[in-house]
Amino acid sequence: MNIILLGLPGSGKGTQGNILSKVFNLYKVSTGDLLRDEIKKKSTLSNKIKTLIDKGLLVPDDIINNLVENILSNKNYYNRLIFDGYPRTLNQAKHLDVLVKKYNQKVSFVFNLIVNKDFIIKRFFGRQVCSKCGLIFNEFYYPSTNENHQCDPKFLQKRSDDNEKTVRNRFDTHSKETSPILNYYRNQNLLHEVDGLVDISLISKEIRQIIHSLET
Ligand code: AMP
Repeated sequence: MNIILLGLPGSGKGTQGNILSKVFNLYKVSTGDLLRDEIKKKSTLSNKIKTLIDKGLLVPDDIINNLVENILSNKNYYNRLIFDGYPRTLNQAKHLDVLVKKYNQKVSFVFNLIVNKDFIIKRFFGRQVCSKCGLIFNEFYYPSTNENHQCDPKFLQKRSDDNEKTVRNRFDTHSKETSPILNYYRNQNLLHEVDGLVDISLISKEIRQIIHSLET
């Protein structure tokens, strides 16, 4: 099964993606992470991508579609992907349908994590990502400890686009571009709305229950 996680920036898609990928043996595809990797490579596209990300704007669909096709076409991940941060526009959602058909796969579940902006502004400013293992923590809500994290705390980093102006732009972009995607998946009976404000383990439990109750 392929799964899509939708929700405002900072709604917890990355965290749930990490948990669910382990539970269901899925491969997590974060287009944000793929773009940040692309920036590190210092490729010809790097500067363009970095400028857009730092402004909180979306990277053009053709770049994203290529990155996603590389993964969908990889037989190692056949029908076991969990998307975090993709699709972000209706065009990307429609293109994903073309790609899953092309590679004989399907989208089985779409989860929308519902949160409110005030809460996640605080989540943003507390967010820390471990540059060694990729786990995501939050200074305020879910700090890294010896129990939940094995790497040295020196690897914890803030993201360069987690500043106030960029965050506001990302919210605006999300409201404009991403909301139509909800209707797109609602009309296909694939969309499940999940409360993203409760405890992390309760959110993943609810998602797991929905998957188990509908899986054939
Ligand atoms: P994320 O890590 O998902 O919060 O994404 C960080 C930034 O990468 C976003 O604010 C966008 O600038 C860019 N980005 C990530 N995914 C996409 C996508 N599917 N389409 C366009 N831009 C994206």
